[in-house]
Amino acid sequence: MQSSIASALAETTDLLNRALLEIAGAAAPPQLEAVRFRFLGKSGEMTNLLKSLGSIEPEHRRSVGQVLNETKARIEAALTERRAILQLSVQSVAPVLDVTLPGRRRSLGHGHPLTQTAEQMKSILAGLGFSYDDYPDIETEYYNFDSLNTPAWHPARDMHDTFYLENNYLLRTHTTAFQVRVMRASGVRLPLRAMTTGRCYRRDAIDASHFPIFQQLDAMAVGRHITMADLKWTLTELAQSVFGAEAVIRFRPSYFPFTTPSAEVDVSCVVCHQKGCQLCSRTGWLEVLGSGMIRPEVLRAGGLDPDVYRGFAFGIGVDRITMLKYQIGDIRLLYANDELFLRQF
Ligand SMILES: [Zn+2]
Repeated sequence: MQSSIASALAETTDLLNRALLEIAGAAAPPQLEAVRFRFLGKSGEMTNLLKSLGSIEPEHRRSVGQVLNETKARIEAALTERRAILQLSVQSVAPVLDVTLPGRRRSLGHGHPLTQTAEQMKSILAGLGFSYDDYPDIETEYYNFDSLNTPAWHPARDMHDTFYLENNYLLRTHTTAFQVRVMRASGVRLPLRAMTTGRCYRRDAIDASHFPIFQQLDAMAVGRHITMADLKWTLTELAQSVFGAEAVIRFRPSYFPFTTPSAEVDVSCVVCHQKGCQLCSRTGWLEVLGSGMIRPEVLRAGGLDPDVYRGFAFGIGVDRITMLKYQIGDIRLLYANDELFLRQF
């Protein structure tokens, strides 16, 4: 019988080692419960071993029983310890939902002031029949310059410090680059009224009024009977909708390669109402946009006969209008993404 006692003790040691290994390896509470069931369940290995105690000779039963009970106690202790560790780690991974805690208020966002200004002007022009579309920021030299009567030798290209890319691509220097694209688009019906807005890029040194990225809005109208009077009426509507009903505009002769005649447009000062102040440099007027009648060369590039069709076009700096509207003194504030600043609008 000595051998049966020895084998029972060896079996017990082996069982204990396996149980401790499996308990330590259990990665989650359900896994640990499976280990417990396998060793301590109704027909678990430990339970069966205890049941077999009856077959041990009575004089050895007591000492073997003691070993078995100690083994069982060690397994139970290991299970309890492991269970506590697993529960702790579950709690730290998945925070307990406490429905009695006060809710976290989410702050309500809104459009960036530049977006608000662009959307306002877009909706005014949409009301006047201009349709909207987006055009690429990465343009060809052709659409940005050549198609707009600005060939390579033209000094007007010096007016822009351009970010050139490879293969005659560039970052558009103005949204005016959309004009010939619009006229060439299939399915265009005349009279044509189109607009776009978006980012433009120039190699400007950064200061209070210059930034390498800025936003423009461009619009154009082409038809058989479009005149400068239509342009002036459209711009008056736009200026009064943005700056108030009392706003007036004036045209100053100017030059752009893609329009003739060309005009800079000023709006009456939004601060002093033409009495003269710091914002308008005591002139009473604020320069807001460039405009003119589309040159025949541009109409031709768009596939339209300039003897039949005429059109007007204008381009507005969305940054400039935003800065005037909210009296922001530094363009850099518009691109700094400072929430404290942006929350004001
Ligand atoms: Zn003023």
